[in-house]
Amino acid sequence: MGKNSKNKMQDIKIGLEIHGYLNTEKKLFCNCDSIHSPTTIPNTSICPICTGQPGSKPMKPNKEAIEKFLQTSLMLNCKINPKFRFQRKHYNWPDLPKGYQDTISGAHSTNPAVEGKFENIKIIEAHLEEDPAAWNPETGCIDYNRSGLPLIEIVTYPEFKTSEEVATWLKNLILTLSYIKTIDKKLGLKVDVNISINQEFGGNRVEVKNLHSIEEIKKAIEFEIIRQEKQGTQKETRRYDSSKNQTTVMRAKENLEDYEFIPDPDLPTITLDKKQTEKIKSSLPESPQQKLKKLIKKHKINTYSANVLSKNLEIVEFFEHVAESIPPAFALDWITIELLRVLKYNKKELDQVEINVKHFIELLQAVKDKKLTELKAKQILNQFIPKSFSIKDTLKDVKTIDNKSQIETLAKQVIKENPKAVEDFKAGEQKSINFLIGQVMRLSERRADFKVAKNILEKLLK
Ligand SMILES: [Zn+2]
Repeated sequence: MGKNSKNKMQDIKIGLEIHGYLNTEKKLFCNCDSIHSPTTIPNTSICPICTGQPGSKPMKPNKEAIEKFLQTSLMLNCKINPKFRFQRKHYNWPDLPKGYQDTISGAHSTNPAVEGKFENIKIIEAHLEEDPAAWNPETGCIDYNRSGLPLIEIVTYPEFKTSEEVATWLKNLILTLSYIKTIDKKLGLKVDVNISINQEFGGNRVEVKNLHSIEEIKKAIEFEIIRQEKQGTQKETRRYDSSKNQTTVMRAKENLEDYEFIPDPDLPTITLDKKQTEKIKSSLPESPQQKLKKLIKKHKINTYSANVLSKNLEIVEFFEHVAESIPPAFALDWITIELLRVLKYNKKELDQVEINVKHFIELLQAVKDKKLTELKAKQILNQFIPKSFSIKDTLKDVKTIDNKSQIETLAKQVIKENPKAVEDFKAGEQKSINFLIGQVMRLSERRADFKVAKNILEKLLK
């Protein structure tokens, strides 16, 4: 890179259009189930409305979709316009049998959510639209399962300057939206990126469409910056080919007028109830960034663990709940290491199992009061999936043995039964003591206090 490259960098403008599927039970204008798995058999969730049969009319827009749209927009600090209506966006394509897509964007529309800000990037608008069907140009077949699914589109100002900035921002956006679960994570995000570099190279806005991962987005931006510096720019739309790591021309950029937007006469103007909007706003969770700050400040958690906790709303809320009864420093490893271990082993998320936070607190309290050994507690925690239980009854049977003479009896038995390990230890093999402690634990059904057992064994073996 030459001396000038830094100056050139300062003139780079990158903006994003992010499309995500809203996590709703039904489609936007009909009663078909929202199919959220791309592996579903094609055309199994369809009706005359979402296949665009002549004469079919849309049902009233899905309330759940509008609510989740509002939640998302409010989480991005957008201002909400209380009145808006769907526009028909016309284009001819095999995936769109009715000849138009219903969207709350376009020339005549009032955008329902505007002027937001997420982290340091301003958001122009967010709007709601229906997804077209999926057309496979190789087979000529069309799958209508996707047709009519509610989509949110989030448009940012071109305020990003580097691909790194875009990647970090998108990661944080995905994490923040995961706190409100409004976007279907399995289906992922689809992002269009627009990139323009300084006047010297034409300064035209080039759009790269349909990028599906942060990695792809980063590579496409990096490719485009270099390409535009070399070739100059035309206002155009390009596609990214990940196998060749390059972008190619898709079409000259169309203007909004090309779509001939008209308000959809079959759909009512939507008027939002102000109280309802306020209610959604006040019930939004804290953002991951706010949680992170609170964990570090209020609970004195180190940054690394705070990051682990705030990656998942259920986990962080679980922690906050536990920390009301158990010192956070004590609870921390039990959640970030032990609980996550058990969940991972069972391939479950916390919200997919029934772990009652009260039971978890009981368990930790018993360890803290030395009524349970850590080992025994870990074993009980394993049994908390699929469903946790009160340990009050089990506590009677599994009470920690801290009685020294009882442990000594067990230790003597272990020494007698394991002459080889004893010999190794006496010959200087330090590790053998761990094996012997393990045997005491086994005999005591993990109820012996680890440190007491170790001390007694060491004394006996001297
Ligand atoms: Zn349908």
